Amino acid sequence: MSHLISPLFLVAPRARWWGALRAGAGGSAGCRAGSCRRLSPASRARPNGHRPPPAAMRHLPYFCRGQVVKGFGRGSKELGIPTANFSEQVVESFPSDISTGIYYGWACVGNGDVHKMVLSIGWNPFYKNIKKSVETHIIHTFKEDFYGEILSIVIIGYIRPEKNFDSLEALISAIQEDIEEAKRQLDLPEHLKLKEDNFFHLPEGKIVNNH
Ligand code: ADP
Ligand code: MG
Repeated sequence: MSHLISPLFLVAPRARWWGALRAGAGGSAGCRAGSCRRLSPASRARPNGHRPPPAAMRHLPYFCRGQVVKGFGRGSKELGIPTANFSEQVVESFPSDISTGIYYGWACVGNGDVHKMVLSIGWNPFYKNIKKSVETHIIHTFKEDFYGEILSIVIIGYIRPEKNFDSLEALISAIQEDIEEAKRQLDLPEHLKLKEDNFFHLPEGKIVNNH
């Protein structure tokens, strides 16, 4: 059923999720515009009982900027949970081994304010699970859509793997929990710091993470 609802927060078979994991931790932290930084160990603590996979954490914080494109219109807006989709080109520029799942961080549309967000990196069933999608739900009420605008995000932490859901209610309730978890995490001082990062004040054209 979740396939009909949204390609977003959800829907990869568990087997695929585990298959996406790779052994080995460490390596570089998230990079941006040629510089790399690593978050403090405290900020890497798992939020809600899901052990963050090394393949998720070694790339964080991950800074990314790209245009918002039309997704598949599967009703996420109707659920009250619109997700701004990045283009295929931006999705392909993500580290190939970054784990699928639900993450939290900060987001900014154009030169607007920086808001909390939850983000899904997942396999899109529309394309028979051969294409990843990266979708951001900004925890803010916008007056209108912002297709075509530049969305800047920093992905900071991992919440959970993708899941299948048996019902719409279960799906909505899981997303609401993700949103609450993101809000709590992002209030931590070490995460609040990233809200003020210069990245959000760079000119839109500046190249970040290779795009
Ligand atoms: P699509 O399938 O085209 O991605 P959605 O139903 O997921 O459609 O809606 C996403 C669009 O909704 C975004 O591209 C954006 O223009 C708009 N939008 C409005 N408010 C938000 C929000 N808080 N977070 C993300 N997108 C939003
Ligand atoms: Mg969407």
